[in-house]
Amino acid sequence: MCGIVGYIGHREAYPIIIEGLKRLEYRGYDSAGIALFDGNSLKISKTKGKVSDLEERSEKEITKNGSLGIGHTRWATHGVPNDVNSHPHASNSGDLAIIHNGIIENYDSLKKELISRGYTFQSDTDTEVLINLIEDVKKKENVKLGKAVQIALNQVIGAYAIAVFDKSKPGEVVIARLGSPLAVGVGEDEFFIASDASPFIEYTKNAIYLEDEEMAIIRLGKEIKIRKIIDDSLVDPYVQELQMNLEEIEKGGYEHFMLKEIHEQPRAIRDTYRGRLLRDEAIIKMAGVEDNMKKFLNADRIIIIACGTSWHAGLVAEYIFEEFSRIPVEVEYASEFRYRNPVITEKDVVIAISQSGETADTLAAIKLAKSKGAFVFGVCNVVGSSIARETDAGAYTHAGPEIGVASTKAFTTQITVLTLIALRLARAKGTMSSSDFRLYLQELELIPQKVEQALKVDEHVKQIAKEYLLSTNCLYLGRGYNFPVALEGALKLKEISYIHAEGYPAAEMKHGPIALIDDRMPVIVIATSKGHYEKVVSNIQEIKSRKGKIIAVVTEGDTAVKEIADHVIEIPDSEEAFSPLLTTIPLQLLSYHIAVMRNCNVDQPRNLAKSVTVE
Ligand code: GLU
Repeated sequence: MCGIVGYIGHREAYPIIIEGLKRLEYRGYDSAGIALFDGNSLKISKTKGKVSDLEERSEKEITKNGSLGIGHTRWATHGVPNDVNSHPHASNSGDLAIIHNGIIENYDSLKKELISRGYTFQSDTDTEVLINLIEDVKKKENVKLGKAVQIALNQVIGAYAIAVFDKSKPGEVVIARLGSPLAVGVGEDEFFIASDASPFIEYTKNAIYLEDEEMAIIRLGKEIKIRKIIDDSLVDPYVQELQMNLEEIEKGGYEHFMLKEIHEQPRAIRDTYRGRLLRDEAIIKMAGVEDNMKKFLNADRIIIIACGTSWHAGLVAEYIFEEFSRIPVEVEYASEFRYRNPVITEKDVVIAISQSGETADTLAAIKLAKSKGAFVFGVCNVVGSSIARETDAGAYTHAGPEIGVASTKAFTTQITVLTLIALRLARAKGTMSSSDFRLYLQELELIPQKVEQALKVDEHVKQIAKEYLLSTNCLYLGRGYNFPVALEGALKLKEISYIHAEGYPAAEMKHGPIALIDDRMPVIVIATSKGHYEKVVSNIQEIKSRKGKIIAVVTEGDTAVKEIADHVIEIPDSEEAFSPLLTTIPLQLLSYHIAVMRNCNVDQPRNLAKSVTVE
């Protein structure tokens, strides 16, 4: 979710790190910082903003010599983007410095423990807790940095890619990874550390990719030593020769950011429930909900306001909230809501959803709701965004930066956050039994794995795409939880392939759209095994009788739909309420492949902007 860069060798570290951070800015760009060691002193410069802001600031703040350094471009998860929360973070003694990509889930309890032992904290980040934990272990156990990092990481729950150094023991950098990427460029008597190979590709093509649960001690003039964090066992470094160019590396080897982001969804969903869904304790922990529980429990209704894809996530949430927590929900387009003199009272809870947190219509709708006394809760991806600041409370999705204009991982992570809220309220209201609650937690935790499996249909979907790339119209049908997925599937196709598409509730088809069906009309039907399966099968028969071409998304092992549909795409079975997180995957892939085959600009479709900051 952020970019990290490090250098240890014989060149000046500063230009390598700054240039490297610029190449990693696509990974996050709310703040940036650098720590340099010149053989005597440790110099840190950091700032809110872009890498160019850091350059300007470090010009005035630090001397830029030193051949050991680490740098970071941040995508905030804990603490708003500001100068103090920017990385690198130093330990209390000032000896250790760290850069971190990821989330330390148990930072709160670790922080309390460290405070009780006299540690103080400047920032709100989880990262500053980690560096002080490492310092504490180092002092208590009287061990070297590498050992201290290892012991500390064994106490940490969460995800990380880190680089740490100790100014009292120069000439060494310790790195480790769990759940966030980390590559080491191996040059002649020099090492480069980075989130991907783009910062060092012109210096060396030899790279080692650290695996999860591995750490490495990099010493100048020596070999790199890789160990397993858990048991200290040595791992043979596997040095590979890179063939990719710069652009390919930034896209993680995928042809487009959109495809990369589609494939990032297992990680993004996991990061979104990380530290919130505690299955063993059978609880959901979300500070924004907990602190305002009374408001939620006393609410007459929940009004969800959003635009575009976020509005579709809101529609899925409507079904989930009403089913789980029995609170009436209305879902509104922010642009309509803000101008139609809606009835809003102090007993309404408004949930505003926006990936960027800057959507102009949603912001205006929030202001209107607040002026009428409603409690407003935000669901955004960008920490510290206008909506995050304007709302009374909120919960972030932890999807990481979304670069492709067509939203993919933002959608599934929004649904994940809203599901967590609905489940939490269901327990608080007593509308769900504790055994069902446990079951749902367990099921939700399995979703990333199932999304991973659903992504395996990629090649099959590509073959289907070939047959329909010249279509001029397309119909998407779904029922229940999957009706909003049909809308989202149609929107994706329109956005990036410029094919006209409509999403419809499957049963509504006979009230109009059925007239459109002929042998040139592809109809994408979501027909998963739970819910209204038989009814959807009847709808498919109706399409078949009119010679429509049927592409059905079904549950693994389906037999009935297979017999009638022209194509079936199988996805893993799941609780019905969670099925949108899976059914949406093949639809994203279908639009993607059709758009690529039509030579459309997938990442920047015509006439569209990533964040709609105008009315
Ligand atoms: N959790 C850390 C923070 O909020 C790191 C986030 C990142 O990956 O950029 O500062």
